[in-house]
Amino acid sequence: MTTTSGHRGLEMEEPLIFELDSPGQSGVDLPLPPTTYTRLGRVAPRDSLGLPGLTEPQVVRHYTRLSQKNYSIDAGFYPLGSCTMKHNTRLGEKLARLPGFADLHPLQPISTVQGALALIDALAGWLKALTGMAAVAMTPAAGAHGEMCGMMAIRAAHDHRGGPPRLRVLVPESAHGTNPATAAALGFTVETIPATAEGRVDVAVLKAKLGPDVAALMLTNPNTCGLFERDILTISQAVHEAGAFLYCDGANFNAIVGRVRPADLGVDAMHINLHKTFSTPHGGGGPGSGPVVFSQALAPFVPLPLILHDDDGLRLAETRDEDEGTALAYGRMKAFHGQVGVFVRALAYTLSHGADGLYQASGDAVLSANYLLARLKGAFNAPFTGPCMHEALFDDRSLKGTGVTTLDIAKALIDEGFHPMTVYFPLVVHGAMLIEPTESETKATLDQFIATMLALADRAKAGDAAWFQSAPRLTPRRRLDETAAARKPILRWKPNA
Ligand SMILES: *Cc1c(COP(=O)(O)O)cnc(C)c1O
Repeated sequence: MTTTSGHRGLEMEEPLIFELDSPGQSGVDLPLPPTTYTRLGRVAPRDSLGLPGLTEPQVVRHYTRLSQKNYSIDAGFYPLGSCTMKHNTRLGEKLARLPGFADLHPLQPISTVQGALALIDALAGWLKALTGMAAVAMTPAAGAHGEMCGMMAIRAAHDHRGGPPRLRVLVPESAHGTNPATAAALGFTVETIPATAEGRVDVAVLKAKLGPDVAALMLTNPNTCGLFERDILTISQAVHEAGAFLYCDGANFNAIVGRVRPADLGVDAMHINLHKTFSTPHGGGGPGSGPVVFSQALAPFVPLPLILHDDDGLRLAETRDEDEGTALAYGRMKAFHGQVGVFVRALAYTLSHGADGLYQASGDAVLSANYLLARLKGAFNAPFTGPCMHEALFDDRSLKGTGVTTLDIAKALIDEGFHPMTVYFPLVVHGAMLIEPTESETKATLDQFIATMLALADRAKAGDAAWFQSAPRLTPRRRLDETAAARKPILRWKPNA
């Protein structure tokens, strides 16, 4: 249905802010300043900056409308596998907005930020306790950045030991794309370890590929098929015997937090996605925080800055220093001290749960996923037998011959008011649908989602492929040309384009 205004019900059609421009409009009404002159000389701007002119109400409406177009965990179920879209507690949000944290400037004198340092230090203590690890680097800005941090420490440790260069990194087939990307970005050669028919690392192939030129294995546990790597102790032992390190992608830590300590599995370095496991709104790419925990063997190589305790309180070691145990630190990952707003939320989440609450949270996350798996596996094919961890994986085998694809199921879910699951990842199964409910959904929500999925499966099997191919029908934009969007992205708005 089309409307005269272009709006649909109370959902507003919203142009770009540049298209709303009326030159000269402004949110303030001040007299023109007296004549000024520029001291920029030859670097003075030649043209106007091209900023749009709008009134304050126009700006408020523009951004409010945009925010309403952004599906969020606060609005509905968001079962995006691997992303852990869990509820973000209002307590965490409230504490993160305390002016003592929110209004800090990273260049403030250390004596004025003792509270923030104490908070970072307390969270670091929890992360070490929950993982059993010896050290933690708090600054990495997200999971992928944490991978880089951990792999740089591994490289620094190998350089320090000397010996022939170790330039190969082994990565299981089911790994998140950031793992091989990180290794390749650091100049390592990436080699893939295939998955077994059980969706786990093929230990025989791993052992055959290990050698004196392997720097590390990058493993995810639980892996991205939602399965626990049962052979993890054999794996870590083999990796260590080859003189390599075990890097663990800890993005799935929410499945085991409070129950399994990665140190006990033989892990040497692991990033923790605070924004996943310990809550923080992170749809649309941020903000994230990816602290990395390190074993005793890698602890000397952690990047700066380090928080140190001395007689005057807490301070930051920002440079290498022979006396402070920072002599082997390899430098820093980013300016300043990390994502304090995410730290506040993570510590609020941790302290409000407590050790017993974290234990229950991981248990509930696994229970919810297994409930979905049990209820849906009659209608959608589960490629691996047995229970899952925190996410349930299906492939598209049961859709065979219907003309309906995984993508069509995802688009039909949008019309039903659900954010689609992760699709086509992991790559080890065909047409993957990876569903992660997290611990924070009620059974009623899961039941509603299950009923929807079962109805979609029935409709697909009834031969209604055309209906699927025209979904979504109820969104402001429908099927986009995703190939053109990826191949020929238009990233810049031009006037009258
Ligand atoms: C989310 C995720 C990452 C990357 O984390 P970012 O914070 O998005 O950089 C890496 N590995 C796995 C398994 C993930 O789920």
